[in-house]
Amino acid sequence: MWINISDIKQHLYCERIPYYIRIVGIKPNTTYSMHIGESFQKYLDLNTIKKLLKQQGEFIEDGKLIDNFCIKSTKLGIKGSIDCLFISNKKVIPIEIKFSKYPLMYKLQLVGYITLLKSSYDNVSYGYFIYKHSGKIIKINKYIPTQLDIINLNLAIKQIKKNFKSMVRPKPTNNIEKCFFCEYKNFCNDII
Ligand code: SF4
Repeated sequence: MWINISDIKQHLYCERIPYYIRIVGIKPNTTYSMHIGESFQKYLDLNTIKKLLKQQGEFIEDGKLIDNFCIKSTKLGIKGSIDCLFISNKKVIPIEIKFSKYPLMYKLQLVGYITLLKSSYDNVSYGYFIYKHSGKIIKINKYIPTQLDIINLNLAIKQIKKNFKSMVRPKPTNNIEKCFFCEYKNFCNDII
C-alpha cells in the first residue's frame, strides 16, 4: 500500500486520521482552513512565486516552475503532489504554499517531498514555504531538513506502514484540544 505524503501530515496531527481515510475509506470534508488554503494557492500565480524566489537570491532564469507536481518512488513506497516545483539543470526546489506559518507537520511534509525528489534527482537539498503572515503579507522562508527531521520522517513512515498493516484503529491523540478542530470527531466514540 502506497504511503501518501498527506498521510504523514495527518499522522502527525493524529494517528487515527490516516486510518479513517485510507483503511475505513472516509472521505475528508473540505474544512474552512482547507478552503482558505486553496484560495491562497489560487491567488499566488507562478509569476509571484518567481518574484519571491528571486528575492531569496535564487537564479531561476534557466529553469521552469511546475505547479502540482506529482512524484512517487517505488523503492520508498511513497508518493505525493508538490504545490510547486522549480526545476533546472543545477537544482530542484519544492515549494509548499500555506495559509499560515508552518508547524512541525508541514515541515515534515516538505522534508517528505525532498526525500522523494532525492530518489529521482541529485541536486535537491532544500525547499521553500510561501505563507501568509498576519493574514495578509506574503512571506517566503527557505527550509533545510535537519538530521532530526529525517529521523522523525522515517519514524512516522514506519509507524504508518505498521498501522496500515495491522488495520487496527490507533489510539486517540493525547492532546484533546486537537479533537475540537478535527473533522473525524464523530467517528471517535472514546474521547471526552
Ligand atoms: S477526534 Fe481526536 S482522536 Fe479522533 S481522529 Fe480527531 S484528533 Fe484523533
